[in-house]
Amino acid sequence: MNAIIPINQIVEAGCATQPILKERGQREVFCGLTGIIWMHRKIQDAFFLVVGSRTCAHLIQSAAGVMIFAEPRFATAIIDDRDLAGLADANAELDKVVQQLLDRRPDIKLLFLVGSCPSEVIKLDLHRAAGRLDKQYGPNVRILNYSGSGIETTFTQGEDACLAAMVPELPGVSPDTQKSLMVVGCLPDIVEDQFKRIFQELGLDQVQFFPPRNSKSLPKVGPNTKYVLAQPFLGDTARALEARGATYLPALFPFGIEGTTDWLWSAAQEFGITKEHFDRVTLPKRERAKHALEKHQAVLRDKNIFFFPDSQLEIPLARFLHEECGMQLTEIGTPYLHKNHLAKELTRLPHEVLISEGQDVEKQLDRVKATNPNLIVCGLGLANPLEAQGMTTKWAIELVFSPIHGYDQAADLAELFARPLRRKQKLQFNVE
Ligand code: SF4
Repeated sequence: MNAIIPINQIVEAGCATQPILKERGQREVFCGLTGIIWMHRKIQDAFFLVVGSRTCAHLIQSAAGVMIFAEPRFATAIIDDRDLAGLADANAELDKVVQQLLDRRPDIKLLFLVGSCPSEVIKLDLHRAAGRLDKQYGPNVRILNYSGSGIETTFTQGEDACLAAMVPELPGVSPDTQKSLMVVGCLPDIVEDQFKRIFQELGLDQVQFFPPRNSKSLPKVGPNTKYVLAQPFLGDTARALEARGATYLPALFPFGIEGTTDWLWSAAQEFGITKEHFDRVTLPKRERAKHALEKHQAVLRDKNIFFFPDSQLEIPLARFLHEECGMQLTEIGTPYLHKNHLAKELTRLPHEVLISEGQDVEKQLDRVKATNPNLIVCGLGLANPLEAQGMTTKWAIELVFSPIHGYDQAADLAELFARPLRRKQKLQFNVE
């Protein structure tokens, strides 16, 4: 049974002053399998084998619909009725599927066995299976596992679980090696290249990105690794990196001009870059981004926005929309709140905004009706019913599929929120 925590049990956030409403009720969030959609594009010699049901296969195939004409780097090994009834040896079946896959696809160098709700229900030990298969196919093909099950994970937690599973594989470095920077979190290649160029202009050459584009170029980690997070949902990955000696550099997340500047400055400072040089490199980029942002500010300014919990990007995005686009924040829902990583973000939010962690969807829908926001950010399942009631929505999933980090994407990020408001204006104009 779900424990529902009443609204009067609002608790204070660690280092921020905003109240946090904790809710544990019915939730409307994708499971962690969804992360495969962006991760399979990033690590180009990896393959994601979901050990799941036809439902799991439909989820990733429809979410990644555009990829069906290409040779995909994901698939589902279907657990069927015989497996569920215990009539088949699921491990032997899995070994067979893996062998067929690796025979047919010699380009695969890293295979993830991805757990799902059905594999958990039949208690298939994928960690043990991955270890057994890794011995058989390694070192040519490495085999790892993580869970994307809806029982254990939501949406972006799939990426966290995947990266955390890779951390033990990262090569180590001795304590006397030169200090280096690691950027942690999946970024589209175009954004990664932009950041690489900025770090180079700043004079930072020792920069590694995790995950890498190729499984054979894993970044090194050790006591002299300093890391910044590109995504706010990587709590387990961060813990695993710290267990290997790496140190977190606290910063805002690189969304919008302010977030990107703070994030870059946190790394630059650590590596002894002067403020003058930092400003010389970043000021023209900040000015350009400011100019590009202007056309969207007119649409967004003073509009109210309500975030349902979905991608865990909600808090940094709300900070960007409030500070740089002039939006008013009604409620910011997030599935989980990593207080350490979001500490700086929380101090930048207006005190009166309601932050909710977890979800009780019915209660949240009541709050939407009561506040009647101009724009609602939510999952696909909620968007259509809310639109049918005359509300304007933005699909949260678009925010993880689109390049939104960094200076060059600040205006594109604002546009993602301005577009539904412009469409609404046009529809109203046509009706009138
Ligand atoms: Fe559904 Fe669970 Fe499969 Fe996700 S892992 S698609 S929640 S059955």
